Amino acid sequence: MKKKVSVIGGGNVGATAALLIVQSGIADVVLFDVVEGMPQGKALDLGEACPLWNSSANIKGTNDYADTADSDIVVITAGLARKPGMSRSDLLHANADIVKNAATEIAKKSPHSILIVVTNPMDVMAQLAWKTTEFSCKRVMGMGGILDASRLAAFVSWELDVSPEDVEALVLGGHGDEMVPLPRFTTVKGIPITEILPRKKINALIERTRKGGAEIVSFLKTGSAYYAPAASAFQMVKSILLDEKRMLPCAAYLNGEYGTRDLYMGVPVILGTEGVEKIVEVKLTKEEKAQFRRSCESVRKLLKQLSI
Ligand code: NAD
Repeated sequence: MKKKVSVIGGGNVGATAALLIVQSGIADVVLFDVVEGMPQGKALDLGEACPLWNSSANIKGTNDYADTADSDIVVITAGLARKPGMSRSDLLHANADIVKNAATEIAKKSPHSILIVVTNPMDVMAQLAWKTTEFSCKRVMGMGGILDASRLAAFVSWELDVSPEDVEALVLGGHGDEMVPLPRFTTVKGIPITEILPRKKINALIERTRKGGAEIVSFLKTGSAYYAPAASAFQMVKSILLDEKRMLPCAAYLNGEYGTRDLYMGVPVILGTEGVEKIVEVKLTKEEKAQFRRSCESVRKLLKQLSI
């Protein structure tokens, strides 16, 4: 039987993620949104592209959670996106209500699903979704580190004029301004960038990565990035559905790992059919540990504002 992925929120990120899943043919997709007609229209359009993609996936657009029943994976993208001048945390209260409602419905309709949270501020929303669903923490995770690492990898490849295919980057911590990019684990064909780029240049690339989302918001003005975010969520969906066991930086529940307890944070994990099958602990330097702690603190502050 074909796998089923529901995407909650049919806006820019949700519809693009739906496109990538349907195009790949690895699962049927249900696209849910509160706006009447919009998910139905987008689903019809995507379905009409399937013959061109040689894809046998089915897609349905809906305003009714009943259609999402028995999903294998649910991707939450519902919520407000940033406008120029806004930080991800400015979205906190409005998006918390939306994510709580979505998580409640998912727990009822798809009690065995794996949940990928994209809505910002993502680490906080992942923790909220986990608490709301009462799912095992292995089955609730957030997307952020893959996107941040892909941005860093793109900037490195442009700087060195090498194929992005040959660049691997690693960014840990929360998906916010306090993220922790790790240049010594960012490599070009295995060579750390610390050996091929001057420190000043690396710092500039890291700064651009931290502000990568805001850079796009300032161009778009009416919304935020969605192609790379959707591609990042798709990579998670694929690793889980196909049991690829990719090692990817995702927001996962830490219970002692990285010296952190009871908090969703971006760390490398192994993603397979069980969800987060393993948290991979990387030995951090003193300075990296301090950055990681600062990132944890800023996520905890937001959780406190929601009384979680
Ligand atoms: P968008 O405005 O294009 O789409 C959001 C959609 O959510 C809209 O279609 C809206 O109708 C829908 N929605 C609102 N309330 C809803 C509800 N209660 N139930 C279902 N749907 C509802 O925004 P976008 O660009 O797709 O971004 C979506 C979210 O993802 C934002 O919070 C954004 O900040 C976040 N985001 C996160 C990352 C990341 O790396 N984690 C990257 C990009 C965007």
